[in-house]
Amino acid sequence: AHMINQIAAGEVIEGPFSVVKELMENAIDARATIIQVEIQQGGKRCIVVTDNGTGIPGDEIEIAFKSHTTSKLRTIDDLQHLHTLGFRGEALASIAAVSRVEITTKQQSRISGYRAIFESGQMTSMEETGCPDGTRIIVRDLFYQTPARLKFMKSDGAESARISELITRLALSRPDIAFQYINNNNITLTTRGENGLSPAVLSIFPEEIGRNMFETAQKTYFLENYRLSISGLLCQPHASRGNRQYQFYYVNGRSVRSEVLTQGLEQAYEGALMVNRFPLCVLYIDITPELLDVNVHPSKVAIKFQYPQWIVESLGDYVKQALQTQTT
Ligand code: ADP
Ligand code: MG
Repeated sequence: AHMINQIAAGEVIEGPFSVVKELMENAIDARATIIQVEIQQGGKRCIVVTDNGTGIPGDEIEIAFKSHTTSKLRTIDDLQHLHTLGFRGEALASIAAVSRVEITTKQQSRISGYRAIFESGQMTSMEETGCPDGTRIIVRDLFYQTPARLKFMKSDGAESARISELITRLALSRPDIAFQYINNNNITLTTRGENGLSPAVLSIFPEEIGRNMFETAQKTYFLENYRLSISGLLCQPHASRGNRQYQFYYVNGRSVRSEVLTQGLEQAYEGALMVNRFPLCVLYIDITPELLDVNVHPSKVAIKFQYPQWIVESLGDYVKQALQTQTT
């Protein structure tokens, strides 16, 4: 049984990056308003994710760490109308299969919470304990039983850079949540969970970048019964960069990459930019779910739209209008 667990885990848990991603998404799904991520040695030695979300009832802790157990999906119909980031019930089981996990969790309505330890996927202890509302999960010694997998991990610096990029993307997707990222005891990123996007952007992006970005009014486009609404931040043409590092796109709440979106944005800036310069953006796109190719593999960031031309044109129109109002 252990073998099966470890093979299945390989698909979800590639390294520290995927552990942090899954734990943070669980915290967001648990409606946390404060999420702290702490890593040591690129996350290889230790990853700690703490949230102030709903917590897990004592009698559900062991179940939550079993494969294919999720509290988020009731019917298959839900897949089209998913409001949570997780739904496959794989992550905790996969993480626990390849590391040592400690969880402390408390529901707000309870006086005390629980601490449980998992080794090779099995719960080895659980006790009642006093602790703050929410959940803290500590993941130690990732891949300790599989030296072959250990070798595939990148340097501490490369792993923590990837995690930093991930936290940036999540923090921008939810400016209403306060995020903190601590890497080897250094506070590397902080957002305060204020209203509106600009404060988050200003605390994450370098000052000279944030200063050149501006908030745009939300706009909605229709094609028959389909709906597309766009909002977010754009930049002044003169603030463009030599790469696309500062282009962030969110579709229905998920961070994505899409050539259609890049094209829509960049065409609208064309003429205002020199060759090999790219605009910056943080764009939120909400679209009728039926227009997205339902390829809901959680590790996939690339998405496909139906009617891509309509998307390109609408986004182009949105950007042009925003730039015009900004300069007049
Ligand atoms: P999924 O997110 O796909 O449901 P996971 O394995 O990531 O699967 O989590 C299993 C279950 O554990 C979740 O459905 C949820 O009920 C619970 N859970 C996990 N993390 C948290 C958390 N931080 N706060 C509250 N509940 C959590
Ligand atoms: Mg999950």
